[in-house]
Amino acid sequence: MRKPFIAGNWKMNTDSHGAVDLAKAIAAESVDALSDNKITIAVCPPSVYLSAVASALTGSCVGLGAQNVYSEEKGAFTGEVSVSMLKDVGCTYTLIGHSERRHIFGETNEMVNKKVHAAISGGLLPVLCVGELLEEREAGSTEEVVKTQIIEGLRGVDAAKMQAVTLAYEPVWAIGTGLTATPEQAQDVHAFIRSILTDLYDASLAEEIRIQYGGSAKASNAAELLGKKDVDGLLVGGASLKAVDFMGIIEAAL
Ligand code: PEP
Repeated sequence: MRKPFIAGNWKMNTDSHGAVDLAKAIAAESVDALSDNKITIAVCPPSVYLSAVASALTGSCVGLGAQNVYSEEKGAFTGEVSVSMLKDVGCTYTLIGHSERRHIFGETNEMVNKKVHAAISGGLLPVLCVGELLEEREAGSTEEVVKTQIIEGLRGVDAAKMQAVTLAYEPVWAIGTGLTATPEQAQDVHAFIRSILTDLYDASLAEEIRIQYGGSAKASNAAELLGKKDVDGLLVGGASLKAVDFMGIIEAAL
């Protein structure tokens, strides 16, 4: 049984007080949900607020994640943050290859792959994000795009290391647009991703890996999406910025 994994990606939102307040509210309101270890919950605040949010989450089972990480350990990489720095401030997870990183900041599959390796070797759990653009879906190339992102993103990651990995299918046309993939569209791609994992590794490993859906997920559509066999969680942007909205999604996952 794959445990549902709900993660909030706060993107470049909140301020220091707002981030702490939001983290405290989520920690307080998810005590019951987390008490029987039936769900994984994480929040990914902006990097400058990670330490403050880590303190706000003290004593809580809500995990802390970064939105991005650099693949090198240290040195002359102005503006970047390493795996050990993220671990040092209390992170357990990091998003890697989010569509905004790929499409606004030009991250390639090769860069994404280096980050995945760095995260796993340094003890961070990567959430590897993949997904197609609208024009790619309209051209019928969703599977080809997602397959390439997965094969190249996971290149050299052996089966033992895959235990650390979560995948997130996030169709770019659904992120922050209010357009959600239908549960059937999500299920089709999630099942396809599991088939790729079967080809790359084996069927039992493919059955264990959690695959989140992301793209305008909210309390009102979460249950339907999570009701699909291969949808194991949600990566939530906009609806993770208010505790009441995020908690509505968590309720739907229980
Ligand atoms: C995201 O940022 O990963 C995301 C899915 O955003 P939203 O929920 O706002 O579409």
